[in-house]
Amino acid sequence: MTKKSSTGQRRSGENKSLPCKECGDIVYNVDSNCISSTCWRCVSKQINPNSLIVSDLDDAAWRDLLKTKIFNTNGRSENTTAESEL
Ligand SMILES: [Zn+2]
Repeated sequence: MTKKSSTGQRRSGENKSLPCKECGDIVYNVDSNCISSTCWRCVSKQINPNSLIVSDLDDAAWRDLLKTKIFNTNGRSENTTAESEL
């Protein structure tokens, strides 16, 4: 899948697109002086390796995450109200 950017080549050429050096994803609006680029995903992963990138989650991982969150909130709030009311 290669798209040739033949649409309106700008002579000013301030920005260009480069593949991310980590994952190969195309990074847009890179400074024309840049030789290599890193996409925001890889940047955020470098900053925080534990960061969750929602679009990277598959269905199972996403459900897992939702479950954990839902169980945490429900479990806690139900327990506390039940205990305090009884
Ligand atoms: Zn990347």
